[in-house]
Amino acid sequence: MKEEKKFKTESKQLLNLMINSIYSNQEIFLREIISNASDAIDKYRFNLLTNADKKTKDRDYKIQIEVDKEKRSISIIDNGIGMSKEELENNLGTIAKSGSKEFLEKLEKAKNAKDISIIGQFGVGFYSAFMVGKEIQVLTHKEGELPYLFTSDGIEKYSIEDQKDNDVYGSKVTIFLRDNDKEINYDKYLDSYTIENLVKKYSDYVRYPIHMNVSHTENDKDENGKDIEGKTHEVIEDKILNSMVPLWKKQKKDITDEKLNEFYKSHFDDYEEPLVSLYVKTEGVISYSALLFIPSHAPYNLYSDNYEKGLALYTKGIFVQDKCKELVPDYLKFAKGLVDSDDFPLNISREILQNSPILTKIATNIENKLIEKLKDLKNNDYDKYLKFFDIYGDNLKFGIYSSYGMKNELLKDLLVYKSLNNDKPISLKEYLDKKKENQKYIYYATGKTVEEIKLLPEIEKFKKEEMDVLLLTSNVDEFSLMVLNNYDKVEFKNITSSEKEELSQEEKDKISKLNDDNKRFIDNLKESLKGKVDDVSFTNKLVDAPICLSTKEGLSLNMEKVLENQPNKSSEDNMPKAIKVLELNASHPLINKVKDLSDEEIKTYSTVLYEEALLLEGYDIENKKEFVEKLNELLLK
Ligand code: ADP
Repeated sequence: MKEEKKFKTESKQLLNLMINSIYSNQEIFLREIISNASDAIDKYRFNLLTNADKKTKDRDYKIQIEVDKEKRSISIIDNGIGMSKEELENNLGTIAKSGSKEFLEKLEKAKNAKDISIIGQFGVGFYSAFMVGKEIQVLTHKEGELPYLFTSDGIEKYSIEDQKDNDVYGSKVTIFLRDNDKEINYDKYLDSYTIENLVKKYSDYVRYPIHMNVSHTENDKDENGKDIEGKTHEVIEDKILNSMVPLWKKQKKDITDEKLNEFYKSHFDDYEEPLVSLYVKTEGVISYSALLFIPSHAPYNLYSDNYEKGLALYTKGIFVQDKCKELVPDYLKFAKGLVDSDDFPLNISREILQNSPILTKIATNIENKLIEKLKDLKNNDYDKYLKFFDIYGDNLKFGIYSSYGMKNELLKDLLVYKSLNNDKPISLKEYLDKKKENQKYIYYATGKTVEEIKLLPEIEKFKKEEMDVLLLTSNVDEFSLMVLNNYDKVEFKNITSSEKEELSQEEKDKISKLNDDNKRFIDNLKESLKGKVDDVSFTNKLVDAPICLSTKEGLSLNMEKVLENQPNKSSEDNMPKAIKVLELNASHPLINKVKDLSDEEIKTYSTVLYEEALLLEGYDIENKKEFVEKLNELLLK
C-alpha cells in the first residue's frame, strides 16, 4: 500500500529556504547521510547489547556507497537499526522537529544577514541531501517490521509504501541527483574520486567500514605476467574509504586542532568552528578519553526547558548514550562532546550509570579541564575569551550563585565585567590592581544598560574621584557577587548602598548633625513616604543630583526587581523587600529650599522627590497620576 502525505507549510518553507538559498557548502550532504548510517549501526549494536531476548544477531557492520551513473544516483546503505513506518514518518516526514518555527524565523533573518551558520544549530541533516538531490528514496527495514520505501521530492510531499518482507535489514538512502545547471555540475558526485575525497575529509573516523566499488584500468598481461602494450581492462575493486579509527583513539600527535574542529562540525552538525576544542586523555585511577567543545554560538534553545545538556558516552569505543547529563554541571551545559571510558561494563543500565562513582569522578575531572582551558584562553587570547564570556558568562555567574560558594575558588578568576574606567571588560584581579590606595571596597552599580548606569546620581562622585566601578547589566550579577562575597578579602559594595562604613568619623558626625538640625523636614518626608521608603537621611555621596534612593544591607533595589519579575515566584506578600533610604544632597539648592518650607508644602514635594529618585535610579515612576498632579501644583506656584 502506498500512502502520500504533504509536508506541513512550515517544513515546506524551511526546505525551500535551505535548499535554494542558504547552504552553499552542499558537499556536506554525504557526511550527514553517512553519519546517520553510522548512528543507525550504533543503535542496532547498542540494542543488541542491552536486549535480554537474544533474537537479534550480530551483523557484519558496514556502510556501502553505490553509484549508478545511468540513473544519476548515489546510494548510502547501512545494516543498522532501520526504521518502522511510524519512525519513518516521525523522523523524515517532519523537518527540524525541534522548533521548526523558531528555526524558520532565524533562518529568514540569517538569509538577510548572509549568516549561514544558523543551519548547524538544527537537526536538518537528512534533508541536506536535497541540496544535491531532486528525489530521495529511503528503503528501510527494521527487525520485526515490514520493509518500507519512503520517497520524497523535498518540495511538496512524500510517500511511504509497504514492501515485500525480506531478510535484508538496515537502510538504503538513494539520492537522485538534480540536473546539472550552469553553476553546478552535480555529476561530480557520481565520480568515485570525489566521493573518496569527501569521505576522507568528513567521515574518516566513522567506526564502520565505508565500502565502495572503485574501478580503475589495468594493462592486460601476457603469459609471463608482462604488460601488453596498448591493451587495458577495467578492474573493479571493493575499497574501504575510511580509516575507521575514532579521532579520540588516535595518537595524540594526530589529534590536531584542525582535526578536532572538523570532527566537531561533522559530529554536531555545526557550520562554524567551535570556540574552544579540547582533547583529554587520563590514565590511572580513572581512565577515559574525551573530546570537548564549546560552540561559537549558544544553541538556540539553551535557555529553554527542552534543552538537553550532556556529553555522549562511549565505553570501550562503543556508543552507549547520547546525552549523558551527569557528565557536565548545569553551569557548563553549553559544552558538547563525548567521553569514552573503559571502566564501565558495556551493558550498564542508565540507573546504575547515574549513581556510578566513576562517572562522578570523570565529570569532576572534565569540569576542571574545561575551566583550566578557559583560564588558558583568558590568559592567551583575551579577545576570544571576551567573545566566550559574552555568550556564556552568565552561566559561570550562575555556577557561582547556584553552588552557594562551593565554586567560588574555581570560577572567580573567570569573571570579567564592564567598568567605568575601562573600555574592555576587566577581571576582578585587574580591578584590584588598579584600585585607589584608600579604597576599601570593590564598587559596582547595576542597571539595564551601561549607559543607564553611567547616569546614576551615585556615580558622579566616583567619576570625580576617578575611582572605578563595575557596571553590571545582567540579572544574575548581583546575586553571584553576593555569594562570592569578596575577592582577595576585598568585599563588594553596591554604590547605591546606604551603608556608611567607609566614611570617616568626621563625615559621619557631619551627616548626623544635618539630620538632627533638619529633624522636622526629615520626619515630614518619612511620614509622607511611609510604605515607600524606610528611612530618610542626608548624605555626602551626591555631587550634582539632589537626591537618590539607596538601600540598606541585604537586597538592593535591583535584586528586589529581579525577584519580583521571576516567572514562578511565590505570593506577592512573601517577596523579600529591599530596605530603602531616600538620601538628600545637603549642598543642592533644591533640598535647601524645600527643607525650610511648611509641613504641607514638604508633603507635596515629597512625592515628586521620591519619584524623581526612582527615575534617576533607572526605574519607572510608580504613580504617574499623583506625580503629575503634584508636579503641576508646584509649577503653578
Ligand atoms: P539527526 O540525524 O540530526 O537526528 P536527520 O534529519 O539527519 O537528523 O535524521 C532524522 C532521524 O532519522 C534520525 O535521528 C534517525 O532517527 C532517523 N534516520 C536517519 N537516517 C537513518 C538511517 N540510515 N537509519 C535509521 N534511522 C535513520
